[in-house]
Amino acid sequence: IWDSALELIKPDISPTSFNTWFLKIKPINYVNNTYYFLSENEFEKGILESRHIPLITNALAEVTGKPGSVKIVLKEEDAMLSPETATPNASHSIVDDKVSSYQNSSMNPKYTFDSFVIGENNRFAHAACVAVSEAPSERYNPLFIYGGVGLGKTHLMQAIGHYILSYAPHKKVVYVSCEKFTNDFIDAIQNKTNISFRNKYRSADILLIDDIQFLAKKEGTQEEFFHTFNTLQQENKQIVISSDRPPKEIPTLEERLRSRFESGLITDIYAPNFETRIAIIRKKAESFSDEIPNEVLSFIADSIHSNIRELEGALTTVFAYSKLHKVPINIESAKVALKDIFRKKEDIVITSEYIKEVTAKYFNITVEDMNSKKRTRAISVPRQVAMYITRDITELSLPRIGEEFGGRDHSTVIHACQKITEEMANNTDFKNLILRIQREINGN
Ligand code: ADP
Ligand code: MG
Repeated sequence: IWDSALELIKPDISPTSFNTWFLKIKPINYVNNTYYFLSENEFEKGILESRHIPLITNALAEVTGKPGSVKIVLKEEDAMLSPETATPNASHSIVDDKVSSYQNSSMNPKYTFDSFVIGENNRFAHAACVAVSEAPSERYNPLFIYGGVGLGKTHLMQAIGHYILSYAPHKKVVYVSCEKFTNDFIDAIQNKTNISFRNKYRSADILLIDDIQFLAKKEGTQEEFFHTFNTLQQENKQIVISSDRPPKEIPTLEERLRSRFESGLITDIYAPNFETRIAIIRKKAESFSDEIPNEVLSFIADSIHSNIRELEGALTTVFAYSKLHKVPINIESAKVALKDIFRKKEDIVITSEYIKEVTAKYFNITVEDMNSKKRTRAISVPRQVAMYITRDITELSLPRIGEEFGGRDHSTVIHACQKITEEMANNTDFKNLILRIQREINGN
């Protein structure tokens, strides 16, 4: 987002000013509709604040389609400890302010039930999460949600947290990724702060622990988590766990943890169908300032099936593309904007035309050169490379390849393939270059 915003800012000010002030600040956080930037020193911060905030604010609003405010800070912590996020919990919390405010700001304010679209793929998981939010510890405990990447597990978990805090702000909601839990645990051992580590997690009223599959193989952390889990369960506190797979498929998860996870409710989220995908991007599109035509929404929903994060990313890309290039949002501009994303997909058919294009780029020649009669080395070598790759990764026959390369004979193609194979065997640098080109063509 920031990169796209920078593109918008660039033409509006002098290059010197741009390089001096804008390239140095680092976006670090987005909380409560506020973008936080880290600046290196007081002086830079002062200049930016006195002169450039409106420019940054407008550019960000244009890119994201949502107005927000901008704050420049000198220390990362200042972006975490904004007073707005610190207030709800701090006054009642047993632990120090720093910990509780951090926990709140580590949740994304946008991940609420309101912004969650219910489809057949997540109906059950959603219902379970709402039930848990309305009566924590009384129904499904623990609640275990599993599903593939980008399907809304984190969103749902944090929605539980927001919902509970909205009617019970004094509750201690702790949302943590398994990775953070592990890192905190390791830090605690190293710095001998085990007690405060334990207080932090074992005093939670609601513990939301995300991506638990990362606990596999970490024996020490599993042990610690087991005790945290038991303590909370004995005190009848709510626990919600997410994972990319069901408990029984997490390798090296200790049996006693597995059986605990299975003792509550297990619910899954799977990939959304077309209608749900449309509903999700339509909802997301509402936050943009411009109308997005239905055919563009269908085009995106048709192209991306199994990851909602990518679905949203595609929409943002289409929107940013039209802003940057000042073109309307329609099916044509959407196709161009998403070209790079789709090239990476496996199901794309790779044509000899595309192979020529990529190969020509690596050798600094044109596709016309490839098809031409020119026989200088600077052109014949790349042409042979492109023929070799076409032979290697497409289903085209030898005569057909000859035709596609300026109407050449099939023996020319055979000769090209032999030459390139030989050269690759004798010259590692050459071989690596060919492999690089092939990787780009295959999109990986
Ligand atoms: P996961 O944790 O399963 O990998 P996330 O919860 O991070 O996935 O979701 C990825 C993105 O998709 C987030 O931006 C989230 O808001 C969005 N998303 C997922 N499911 C839905 C849904 N049903 N309605 C609206 N947005 C969704
Ligand atoms: Mg997640």
